[in-house]
Amino acid sequence: MVQSKKKPANTLRIELHSHSTQSDGLHTPSQLAQKMRESGVVGWALTDHDTTSGCAEAQKASQELGLVFIPGIEISAQEGRTIHILGLGVDPNLLTDYGVARRQDRVRRMELMAERAVELGLLEEGVQGGLLKHESPGRPHLARALVDAGVVSSVAEAFEQYLKPGGKLYIESPWPSVSSAISTIKSANGVSVLAHPGKDRVEEGELAKWVEQGLDGVEVMHPSHTESEIARYRRMADLLGILKSASTDYHGTPKGDSRPGLDFPVSMWTPLAERLGVVF
Ligand code: AMP
Ligand code: ZN
Ligand code: FE
Ligand code: FE
Repeated sequence: MVQSKKKPANTLRIELHSHSTQSDGLHTPSQLAQKMRESGVVGWALTDHDTTSGCAEAQKASQELGLVFIPGIEISAQEGRTIHILGLGVDPNLLTDYGVARRQDRVRRMELMAERAVELGLLEEGVQGGLLKHESPGRPHLARALVDAGVVSSVAEAFEQYLKPGGKLYIESPWPSVSSAISTIKSANGVSVLAHPGKDRVEEGELAKWVEQGLDGVEVMHPSHTESEIARYRRMADLLGILKSASTDYHGTPKGDSRPGLDFPVSMWTPLAERLGVVF
């Protein structure tokens, strides 16, 4: 179905959180740019997990299609549980070494998870090669391998049965602290935004602490958020005087029938655009 290009007044169709095949998304950076265009998105950020390796391709494709492109990253941090911090408007070249170091961590973690899957008889010996070839190997890749092997019927079931914290294939991740993730983004000239706080049950005191550590904003609208969570994080952001963001956290779908982008309120976009130095 082709989505209507009509959008509500005082909104801009934007996507500030998306994943390509450089991490766990299903489309290449160029295909993503095309998807954005087809969805009527005028500006977008590629925010692959712990890597900026897709940004150059995405930038080039966006330029050819007349789209505004914002280089980004989604950094995995650890603070009692995994917390994701988006870096928007980063300089990808300043994060190359960071990506290489995180890839090493991710490769090691995947080796251990795959080894366990083989020991448990869930996957065949030799499966590691395919899993490790990804630029930023993650649990969704292992989840898809479990689906392909007929062990589970969906990625969601793979997480529920094996990959969530405490699951048989779960390996504790060696991610940096939230404060360190914020500093990394700052050092790459980016704007730091806490991703999906509702999903990770972030409370006001914790958010205030991260703002003291330099956090610039919070993603108030995310597919995992209920209406009351949206209202709650909007209120917290206003109280703390930080930026507000919104996204669909686009990963693509196997049939290719999903659409990125949402109708971003101009009142929310303007302060972000100013910080990012983006003009339409
Ligand atoms: P990783 O960075 O390897 O820990 O993988 C995290 C990614 O897995 C998240 O960004 C989500 O895209 C995906 N994910 C996490 N939990 C689930 C879940 N329950 N079902 C489906 N995907 C999930
Ligand atoms: Zn993801
Ligand atoms: Fe995330
Ligand atoms: Fe994400």
